Amino acid sequence: EKFKEGLTKTRDSFSERVNDLVARYRKVDEEFFEELEEILIAADVGVSTVMELIDQLQMEVKRRNIQDTKEVQAVISEKLIEIYQGGDESSPQLNIEREGLSIILVVGVNGVGKTTTIGKLANKLKNEGKSVLLAAGDTFRAGAIDQLEVWGQRVGVDVIKQSEGSDPAAVMFDAVQAAKSRKVDVLICDTAGRLQNKVNLMKELEKVKRVIEREFPGAPHEVLLVLDATTGQNALTQAKTFSEATEVTGIVLTKLDGTAKGGIVLAIRNELKIPVKLVGLGEKVDDLMEFNAEQYVYGLFA
Ligand code: GDP
Repeated sequence: EKFKEGLTKTRDSFSERVNDLVARYRKVDEEFFEELEEILIAADVGVSTVMELIDQLQMEVKRRNIQDTKEVQAVISEKLIEIYQGGDESSPQLNIEREGLSIILVVGVNGVGKTTTIGKLANKLKNEGKSVLLAAGDTFRAGAIDQLEVWGQRVGVDVIKQSEGSDPAAVMFDAVQAAKSRKVDVLICDTAGRLQNKVNLMKELEKVKRVIEREFPGAPHEVLLVLDATTGQNALTQAKTFSEATEVTGIVLTKLDGTAKGGIVLAIRNELKIPVKLVGLGEKVDDLMEFNAEQYVYGLFA
């Protein structure tokens, strides 16, 4: 239900246009596919993904000898799910150990909803019975540490921090030690998100990651990249930049509720081969959900 609600904007524009298309065309022909292509591109599915999708649709329509546009709709849903799931073998679920410490590194550009996501994720894990600790690794942006602490208090988890301007790698060192000695289940680490200085940012990420790897072999269990769905193709560019710098294991796509271009999920998945693990569907603490391709695609049409 929440998934459906969060996709309202995308659904309103996307399904309305598809329905209108199906109503106007009775026969499945070249022009029908051309218009469908435009609708998908307008929903930010991404040009190369759209091309792939249209190709597969055309093949399937031919194979099943579908004439009536009304029947095409179900095939569209089917192929959307297939495109999403066919990306690669990676697990759609968060990689969290059943026992012992798991460390999640959260990266992303300022303003995408990184802090909010960390707060929501801490809350979600806590509700699942895990003990959680946060690391205030964004020592650069003014107010970032305070903002994380506000979330920590809100959801009832401690935050390991140092003063603004301190070395983020030192914060991570402290945080991993604290997580080990307190025997917490999950340590979620915030990082700086200034992309203006790309080289430094990436160096900092690498350094932070190295400290985590050294202090807890096998970690980080996840490197989650937070992207803002409302920025459309820009999000895709950010994803490319970050995955060049570090191994991103999953995407958190925020503000899906705030865009009519929810097709970006498919573009990210198909072009980057990185699974979308979580989606943000609002500003409230429980507005973070595990991503589910079926629910997502049905949410587009339901
Ligand atoms: P950061 O700079 O990346 O840490 O971004 P913040 O966590 O401060 O979030 C920036 C703004 O986006 C805040 O106003 C959040 O409430 C808002 N935000 C974050 N996630 C979502 C979401 O899933 N949906 C909506 N509608 N707003 C969100």
